[in-house]
Amino acid sequence: MKRIAILGSTGSVGTQTLDVIAAFPDRYSAHSLTANTQVDLLQRQISQFHPRTVAAADGDSADRLARGSGPPSVHAGVEGLIEAVTHPDVDMVISALPGSAGLVPTLKAIEAGKTIGLANKEILVMAGEIVMESARRNGVDILPVDSEHCAVHQCLAGQDPDRIERVILTASGGPFRNSDPAALERMSSKDALNHPTWNMGRKVTIDSATLMNKGFEVIEAHWLFDLPVSKIDVVIHPQSIIHSMVEMVDGSLLAQLGPTDMRIPIQYALSYPERLETPWPRFDITRNWSLTLDPPDEDMFPCLGLAYEASRRGATAPAVLSTADEMAVEAFLQHRIGFTDIPGIIADAMDRHAAAPDRPDRQDRPDRPEPVTLESIVAADRWTRAYCAKKLIAG
Ligand code: MG
Repeated sequence: MKRIAILGSTGSVGTQTLDVIAAFPDRYSAHSLTANTQVDLLQRQISQFHPRTVAAADGDSADRLARGSGPPSVHAGVEGLIEAVTHPDVDMVISALPGSAGLVPTLKAIEAGKTIGLANKEILVMAGEIVMESARRNGVDILPVDSEHCAVHQCLAGQDPDRIERVILTASGGPFRNSDPAALERMSSKDALNHPTWNMGRKVTIDSATLMNKGFEVIEAHWLFDLPVSKIDVVIHPQSIIHSMVEMVDGSLLAQLGPTDMRIPIQYALSYPERLETPWPRFDITRNWSLTLDPPDEDMFPCLGLAYEASRRGATAPAVLSTADEMAVEAFLQHRIGFTDIPGIIADAMDRHAAAPDRPDRQDRPDRPEPVTLESIVAADRWTRAYCAKKLIAG
């Protein structure tokens, strides 16, 4: 029996992880569940899955849970999340909180030796070097839950990493793939949330529409598979049937294909290295499918290029990219900015952060290479939050 802790159990990946756990009750149990604000849903999950530990974002929510017919142990805040994932009985942590909130609890889980199923790509975007180094030091496997990286992970099984020519990540292209560039300005959050193939959370769905999601995935692949971003390409594949590909030096292309169902990569991560029979609909490739592949339009979707640029700049630039995107997407969802304003806000934050003379982490060493520490990443995150908030209020 594998005992699972879920960071973000009420989100899209969290609820689908619970679907997998429910489908294999003899193999998996939900040891710890954590949620941000959806306390009612968390309460229902507690009744169904009987976790030993739960954590909520704030003390009031935790009190509400503790008053219910709750689990033995209820915690609150970041400390609560850490408690939930580092418990000695936990075997594996599914890290599925969106944005930067999952960074510290995931690092603590790695230090506690827990296998990680990583759905939160922002963690690797912001702090890939620290996360991967800690995983190596602690002998911890980081198994991708992202469908593209799950595909690459499968393609690379048994391959010599030195013989990889490049990785090709597929992107659906989002709902605006065929839009007239002039019409993008008027696109509402409702239009952007209408993703053609995948059923995902709001943040990642907007990131899919801007292609920032694919940009994050390029950086994620760079850390997971130890490849330079120059060897990671993106291709638009609207059918989302080929989940990604690896080209080897001999010219062979390896691909993984399957249904557009996140429960499949989640099940892969939970059962790895075993494979279990799927209880969900299969994808029949012998039907009459047409698969198309096209290069991305980087002029129309500048966020993809910003991600490559942040990765080339290195150090804290990807953390600024990630946090500025989080702020810009939130402002777009609240109708405070337009769809095409998103990349400008991120690019401005990246440039200003690089030049900011008052950055507390750079005051004593402005001309030396920037060190990458958890402190410098947290400082970059904080700087970006404050800068973008001021900028967004000023309009
Ligand atoms: Mg993905």
